[in-house]
Amino acid sequence: MRAYASETDALTDVLRLSQAMSYKAAIANVPVGGAKSVILADPTSEKSDALLRAMGRFINLFGGAYVSAPDAGIGIDDLRVMRLETRWILGTGEVTGPSALYTALGVFESIRTSVRYCLNRESLANINVAIQGLGSVGAQLALLLHQAGARLVVADIDQGVTQTVHNELGADVVAPEVILFQDVDVVSPCAFGGILNDETIPEIRARIVCGAANNQLAENRHAQMLYDRNILYAPDYVVNAGGMIAGVAELDERDPSEITASVTTIGQTLAGILKAAELARVPPYAMAERFACAKINSWRSEQHDIT
Ligand code: NAD
Repeated sequence: MRAYASETDALTDVLRLSQAMSYKAAIANVPVGGAKSVILADPTSEKSDALLRAMGRFINLFGGAYVSAPDAGIGIDDLRVMRLETRWILGTGEVTGPSALYTALGVFESIRTSVRYCLNRESLANINVAIQGLGSVGAQLALLLHQAGARLVVADIDQGVTQTVHNELGADVVAPEVILFQDVDVVSPCAFGGILNDETIPEIRARIVCGAANNQLAENRHAQMLYDRNILYAPDYVVNAGGMIAGVAELDERDPSEITASVTTIGQTLAGILKAAELARVPPYAMAERFACAKINSWRSEQHDIT
């Protein structure tokens, strides 16, 4: 749910998001198709039970072919309202715990892989990480990184959450406008998409960009721009697959420890992509797309039951 500037912006976003969902599922080897929906409204002022229930009725029209889950602007409480109208909602936390915890775990494992790959460091102790956005995923990621000994600098437009993370984890707080440009090892975008663009990329000082936000690249060509600057961009749909893996596992009634083990493998998946990209001398984003398309094509040729 987001206050898009125009319907065209929303359409562009939802099409890119749904493609990324397909790629995310393929890379994670979860045999579902990709789909996404967006609600064009401001989540801070325009959310109501009536709107959420209308969304629930809309989702119900698809009879389970489309299953929704938490994402930016839509939290667990909102999904519980939608679920009054449809059962095709996952990630509300009753069965496996909130999906954002699994998303944060996948990002955390990906940061470990990226640090090992770029900085040749096994431990995250004293690694400096800048987190943009301390919502459901960002706040949990901050906790995991803090427990691993990383040093944090954070920003959010909500001063309440930055104050909490400052008090509880000792994170430095900076203004949202400058968080991407901190002199750190890792920048972790966990707010919204489009933040890697012609204006921001030249100013990034970190060696690694690895975060939860969907559609971080304003356009696909920005992957090359990051590569040319020798910045490792860990493809968003590879690293943020934890929530989706947990959601589908919830459908299959798998237990939480099994789900945690699956999500943890995201780090190894990313390592494989980084290695293959290095050998082919292409950006990891391009290699991830090749992997995803190859998997989708192999499923098609096996006539896999892709729902
Ligand atoms: P959320 O809505 O809970 O959190 C987003 C946070 O970003 C909020 O705290 C918000 O105040 C903050 N924010 C907004 N504008 C900002 C700005 N200009 N600067 C800094 N902070 C700002 O969302 P979430 O569920 O934590 O998801 C975060 C991102 O990760 C989204 O892009 C989402 O699509 C993606 N993602 C989430 C999941 C999941 O399981 N929740 C899964 C995959 C991808």
